[in-house]
Amino acid sequence: MRHGNLFVISGPSGAGKGTLVARLLQEVPDAWVSVSATTRSPREGERDGVQYFFKTEEEFMDEVAHDGLLEWARYAGNCYGTPRASVEEHMAAGDQVILEIDVQGAFQVREKMPAARLVFIEPPSLEVLEARLRGRGTEADDVIAERMAAAEVELSQKMSYDIRLVNDDLDEAVHALVAYVDEQAEKPRG
Ligand code: 5GP
Repeated sequence: MRHGNLFVISGPSGAGKGTLVARLLQEVPDAWVSVSATTRSPREGERDGVQYFFKTEEEFMDEVAHDGLLEWARYAGNCYGTPRASVEEHMAAGDQVILEIDVQGAFQVREKMPAARLVFIEPPSLEVLEARLRGRGTEADDVIAERMAAAEVELSQKMSYDIRLVNDDLDEAVHALVAYVDEQAEKPRG
């Protein structure tokens, strides 16, 4: 059994984090991904407890007040946060715990858990990012504009991450991510 580790994956909406994390879960048997809480409305096909725990603002703030979230942030008008207890349980069980969260959340996690490894997923360019967001067809124009603005802010933080992976060729990006997780998980501890 390997030691439990915490990996934070960030990058602009549309950079392909979700696809990369899904592939990582297939390839790394002890990887486990946390399900976040959010006040955002479910997109078509999203189910409560699978992609997110969908909460009202009041329920969300109640979790915050009871210290139930390891970190939380507002992103494009909604709240998102990581439930603390399940992360702690999976780390104690020796899993490679994956958080797919925004940059504000990533820095909160690093403050609280300095051993966490921060991975930034970059789109090949802003043009490609916008094309992917439009191609997804789930967001209205104003939401896309908001997410493009958020993307520029996020990209400006990428040098603070432990590593950056450009998601141009998906298989190559998956390979690099799996290699990084395995390398960190197998590092001897002092
Ligand atoms: P989306 O609405 O597209 O599902 O997610 C929007 C952004 O919120 C993404 O950058 C995603 O990584 C981030 N996010 C999702 N869950 C969390 C969380 O628990 N905490 C934080 N800080 N950000 C999150």
